[in-house]
Amino acid sequence: TFAFEKYPFLKELGLEQTNHGCFDGEKWTGNGKTFLSVNPTNNEVIAEVRGATPEEYEVAVQNMNKAKAEWVKLPLPRRGEIVRQIGDAFRKHKAALGRLVSLEVGKIVAEGEGEVQEIIDICDMACGLSRSLNGQIIPSERPDHFMMEQWNPLGLVGVISAFNFPTAVFGWNFMIAAVCGNLTMWKGSPSTSLCSVACTKIIIDILEKNNLPKAALTLCMGEADIGNLMVEDKRFPLISFTGSTQVGRIVSEKVSKRFGKTILELGGNNCLIVCEDANEELALKASCFAAVGTCGQRCTSLRRLLIHSSKYESLKEKLVKAYKSVVVGDPLNNGTLCGPLHSKAQIKIYEDGLKQIQEQGGKILTGGKVMDGPGNFVEPTIVEMTNPYAPILQHELFVPILYIMKFDDLDEAIAINNSVPQGLSASLFTSNLQNLFKWTGPLGADTGIVNVNIGPSGAEIGGAFGGEKETGGGRESGSDSWKQYMRRSTCTVNFGKSLPLAQGIKFDL
Ligand code: NAD
Repeated sequence: TFAFEKYPFLKELGLEQTNHGCFDGEKWTGNGKTFLSVNPTNNEVIAEVRGATPEEYEVAVQNMNKAKAEWVKLPLPRRGEIVRQIGDAFRKHKAALGRLVSLEVGKIVAEGEGEVQEIIDICDMACGLSRSLNGQIIPSERPDHFMMEQWNPLGLVGVISAFNFPTAVFGWNFMIAAVCGNLTMWKGSPSTSLCSVACTKIIIDILEKNNLPKAALTLCMGEADIGNLMVEDKRFPLISFTGSTQVGRIVSEKVSKRFGKTILELGGNNCLIVCEDANEELALKASCFAAVGTCGQRCTSLRRLLIHSSKYESLKEKLVKAYKSVVVGDPLNNGTLCGPLHSKAQIKIYEDGLKQIQEQGGKILTGGKVMDGPGNFVEPTIVEMTNPYAPILQHELFVPILYIMKFDDLDEAIAINNSVPQGLSASLFTSNLQNLFKWTGPLGADTGIVNVNIGPSGAEIGGAFGGEKETGGGRESGSDSWKQYMRRSTCTVNFGKSLPLAQGIKFDL
């Protein structure tokens, strides 16, 4: 039995109890594996989605290739206009889609809606970009020569995404890729398949209304099987992968073996440092949101909190008190601040993680228990660690466990921040200019996102998003991230009547 009828907003998104999970560029289909959409609040099955078979995948790629020329020939601002219309469609469905994200992932509605807002924002940004994707004009050393850069689309882009941001990450990739002139195939996470189907429907509807090739977006839901087909397929010059470092490593190796490009957005292990001169109230609020938001399942979630010893006891006490007031419950309810973990597998990670933490000297200050009931609820947890280099701190557990630690000297705290293999996001709380510029400078934080007086999670779409080291090195969303979805040609044009060679080389026949 399905709990589908309990959630009327699903129908507004064109969803049904049994859904096709493959849009092959022309029609909805799906004769592959069945994926159940499960509500993590009570583990009831909401609906099912039938994924793509390898044959359906092949049809989708062929349809994309057939539609390529038509999509590429559209003037860039025309593609921008389509993306603008897509943004309006997401505006219209923001409430329903936000609730679906909340229902299927387990994050609170405000965060679900926030994710849809990110899609709307990236649509606006991509529309603006469609009139400003400029190449450079470069002075030539040769007389009567003209040098310019021309940016052309890559062709087909494959997007593989994770469960925790089941709509926004796709939105970042698709909107920029589409404006740049690419066609996108998406494989979302199997456990958030309704989100994938709903977003695809919204976009296909706009393409259809504009009489444009629908194969600008195809959807092939599946697991590692379909993911691997995309990764090994030379017809995808770019694979944008968001997920764990473990799977990212496999993806990276396979794509680079065929000389494809990747954008890798992998695991984080994010730190917040509270200096002696920091505003303690701000640091407290920022830490709570960053560590508890999405039940600790954001790539940018706060894992390690380093507090200057002069502030340690007072902030520790306030944090424990704040944690005790966090309302854990149904993410669809007003007032809930922390929903359930996404899956039973996450509960095991929480339990096993706590065991290891205690073996390595960690002391639980609050939380630490799996809550009774049919859902995947756990208590948001604070652990006091004395050794900031304990082996467990090198890993991203992806559950709401926050480590708190003491430090005395900022250089030492920066060294601890940088001591982990991941390099996504980091924050410093200070009111001292010297600290600030040390932190953002070459000997400061080694992460892709470096914040001051705000927490490590909750990035704006205007900046390039991504991280260093085992986070994969990719950059998505804002700034000049669009360049990764295009290939750059350096074009030299001779408009003279002789043939001077570069570097003054003489080659007289
Ligand atoms: P995951 O690695 O298990 O899965 C990610 C995607 O990869 C899914 O769609 C999955 O089906 C697919 N996949 C699995 N095996 C594959 C294979 N062999 N080939 C191709 N595709 C394959 O990750 P998850 O549990 O869904 O997500 C959590 C992880 O994602 C965390 O580590 C988190 O930090 C990371 N994440 C990173 C960012 C970022 O921007 N840096 C954003 C969100 C999530």
